[in-house]
Amino acid sequence: MPLFDSHCHLADGRLAPIRTVVLQRARRVGVGALIGVAAEARDWPVLLRLGRRHPDIGVALGLHPWFAHPSCALARLPVWVEHAQAVAVGECGLDFGRGRPSREEQEQWLLPQLRLARERDLPVILHAHKSEDVLAMHLGRLSGLRGVVHGFHGSLQQAERFLKLGFHLGIGGAITHPRATRLRAVVAALPPERLLLESDAPDQPPYGREVPNEPAYVTDTLAVLAGLHDQPPAAMAAITWQNAASLFRLPRPSQ
Ligand code: ZN
Repeated sequence: MPLFDSHCHLADGRLAPIRTVVLQRARRVGVGALIGVAAEARDWPVLLRLGRRHPDIGVALGLHPWFAHPSCALARLPVWVEHAQAVAVGECGLDFGRGRPSREEQEQWLLPQLRLARERDLPVILHAHKSEDVLAMHLGRLSGLRGVVHGFHGSLQQAERFLKLGFHLGIGGAITHPRATRLRAVVAALPPERLLLESDAPDQPPYGREVPNEPAYVTDTLAVLAGLHDQPPAAMAAITWQNAASLFRLPRPSQ
């Protein structure tokens, strides 16, 4: 019963010093594939090396909306995506929470990344916070995109809009919190064949787990997700594996 962690920040400074044991623990609980997701340009070389060393790690390169990115970073992204044989573009997106960069700045970083994903026929890994409707509008304007809205925590209506646009939804540790009744109800109503399992490590630890979060803890999220869909965990693991494997085309056929 391999598990696919579709979203973890393996280049994050909080995981870097313990990465070897973190990956060992993940494999021990059955995590058979991971997507190492970038937030900033400094993550790109780290992820490139990890992707080359570990055939079970797919690499996603992009620029996260929380950080102020110089325009040179955006200009270098296409070359890095090529060089690292990235399986996705991201993490990119929109975050209209307090204290974030302006909407204009975030759109200036997002739109070229969406176009790059479409041009390279790669899935895009999206961050959405208080921005789901605007994000869906942009995705609707650029047809032919595929990907995932990771750590989804919007409404059922917003979820259905992303599904209609052909997107998957990433489900993380937030559903394990007993008070997350609204989110659980939304997730229970979504079609399993469009859901991805994710840790978002080192953030978003499942209920009762310590920070830093680790890919190994996706077992907690899987258990709750399976329960919401009245499936045995092994069946939900197989479904979410298949979803992620076909979206990211990983593991590659030659491996
Ligand atoms: Zn993330």
